[in-house]
Amino acid sequence: MTALLEVEDLRVAYGKIQAVKGISFTVEEGEVVTLIGTNGAGKTTTLRTLSGLLKPVSGQIRFEGKSLRKIPAHKIVSLGLAHSPEGRHIFPRMSIEDNLLLGAFLRSDKAGIDKDVQRAYDLFPILGERRKQAAGTLSGGEQQMLAMGRALMSQPKLLMLDEPSMGLSPIMMQKIMATIAELKSQGTTILLVEQNAQAALALADHGHVMEIGKVVLSGTGQDLLHDESVRKAYLGED
Ligand code: ATP
Repeated sequence: MTALLEVEDLRVAYGKIQAVKGISFTVEEGEVVTLIGTNGAGKTTTLRTLSGLLKPVSGQIRFEGKSLRKIPAHKIVSLGLAHSPEGRHIFPRMSIEDNLLLGAFLRSDKAGIDKDVQRAYDLFPILGERRKQAAGTLSGGEQQMLAMGRALMSQPKLLMLDEPSMGLSPIMMQKIMATIAELKSQGTTILLVEQNAQAALALADHGHVMEIGKVVLSGTGQDLLHDESVRKAYLGED
């Protein structure tokens, strides 16, 4: 069986700066796969390339067996790949509900869209309570919820989350991680980029450790969580 997403020897550069230096990994349907690593390792660059926002220098990206290399970003969304970006990118003056509806811009099934808006409110009740308010009035963690809810509105086959826990309080972070676990249990396939290695590995089926543009270690989430070098480098142990 082919994987939902196959990345093979992917290289991405900003001019002369090589940000991703030949990485390979797969994401199977129903899995949570995480990319962890320090600042500047190339994780965000990888997600932006998968979304079609950056063009690779070389390598292959296949989604459901089809190459994504020549497909523009908006078409990639319609193929079923949604991206909740780092820094969230919500529209602060628009209402929470209108921000959510933006995620459904490629859909015309009104009843299905209404159902998915309700699903976002079930996942994140605060968004429902404040649906008519400007999104800019939400706290950082709530904006993160909105960004995730918006990405889900395209009914993605693969949901890519870039640092969903960034800048959040420990309680908010736990809430976001619990939601990711809930989405997984509902069958959503997720590619998760996180600086919080502990939380990400704890819920991931597979993980890849990136350092300066390369994957230096791969394994199941549990294996990496118990790996001595990972514990020292990323989990703050001596
Ligand atoms: P972070 O968690 O800090 O976002 P990351 O692992 O996601 O880290 P990237 O943001 O992908 O890393 O950055 C990888 C490398 O590419 C870094 O050396 C970074 O400085 C460089 N880089 C990122 N964006 C640009 C850009 N627009 N122009 C030039 N270099 C860039």
